[in-house]
Amino acid sequence: MSNELCPVTTDVARAARVLSSGGLVAFGTETVYGLGANALNEVAVARVFEAKNRPHFDPLIVHIADREWLHRLVDEFSPAATLLADAFWPGPLTMVLPRREIVPDLVTSGLPTVAVRMPNHPLALELLTAVDLPIAAPSANPFGQISPTTAQHVLDNLGGRIDLILDGGPCEVGVESTVVLMTGERPCVLRHGGVTVEQLELVLGPVDVQSSVDDDGAASNSTSELESPAAAMSPGMLSQHYSPTTPLALLSNVDVRSVVGKRVGLLRLVRRPATTGSIDEFAAVETLTEDGDLRLAAAHFFAALRRLDARGLDLILAESFPDEGLGRALNDRLLRACHR
Ligand code: AMP
Ligand code: MG
Repeated sequence: MSNELCPVTTDVARAARVLSSGGLVAFGTETVYGLGANALNEVAVARVFEAKNRPHFDPLIVHIADREWLHRLVDEFSPAATLLADAFWPGPLTMVLPRREIVPDLVTSGLPTVAVRMPNHPLALELLTAVDLPIAAPSANPFGQISPTTAQHVLDNLGGRIDLILDGGPCEVGVESTVVLMTGERPCVLRHGGVTVEQLELVLGPVDVQSSVDDDGAASNSTSELESPAAAMSPGMLSQHYSPTTPLALLSNVDVRSVVGKRVGLLRLVRRPATTGSIDEFAAVETLTEDGDLRLAAAHFFAALRRLDARGLDLILAESFPDEGLGRALNDRLLRACHR
């Protein structure tokens, strides 16, 4: 699968050498593929922003394999944070915590906090242990586009811009981690993801959900959005993100008369003819599951969106997911993927 510019391998020691010497390694995790660099090396971190074309106001998540590194990066680890780490690490949960000086400003976009996660993937954990460094890793895709869930997706999108891909197979969770701000009185969900609000609340009792996370995503990526209080808490959570090149809209928001004569694709959770309204023929259909299992839907979501995007359609229509469990993370991705 490798191309001449970018080897794809399962050789962890080789990947660790690339990271130690300041290189960029994309690696599989249980959520999506990350584009990793030594979080303590500002030049390496700057290359991540460059390769992804990611704006510097959007801070990176730092990945670790053990709690020793956590205590070197983080100033204060509250009892609530300990409960969450015990319950969900390694796993798809990112905690935003007060940071120590050692973390470069570039990683945190100058914030007094750092986002930390311990991924639950054997190869990723082996890599982090072998390199023995904290690894800053956003998703391994150009900024704003569909997240990668296989090594091939990374090769297709960033093949010429990074040093190596560590092939961890297809991602099992398939959506990004849940991001929880741990500095306030009550934990606050900044981004829905692989750990559900219901799961968090079983461990901690009630948690807050930042209001912009559950809005209808109708705002555009305007200056005012970047300057809003919500953006200050959760920079990078822009209303347009995860987008295919083909325009995407929610099925429920579209007047079917307006798509007559167009080549339209459909993304849906289950086979259910009634929900297709009066559009008789879709040029392409992706059905995420046989039985509506949201975990499977999440695992298949980004790959299905990529396949639809490759079909040269005029429009992709997507059904909303049930607004519970992983359905919230999926609806969040869908709303942000919609074209404005
Ligand atoms: P990703 O693009 O998946 O790497 O996720 C990174 C996201 O985590 C950013 O876009 C922010 O929304 C959030 N994040 C990372 N660091 C912080 C931080 N220090 N404070 C608040 N949110 C953060
Ligand atoms: Mg991303």
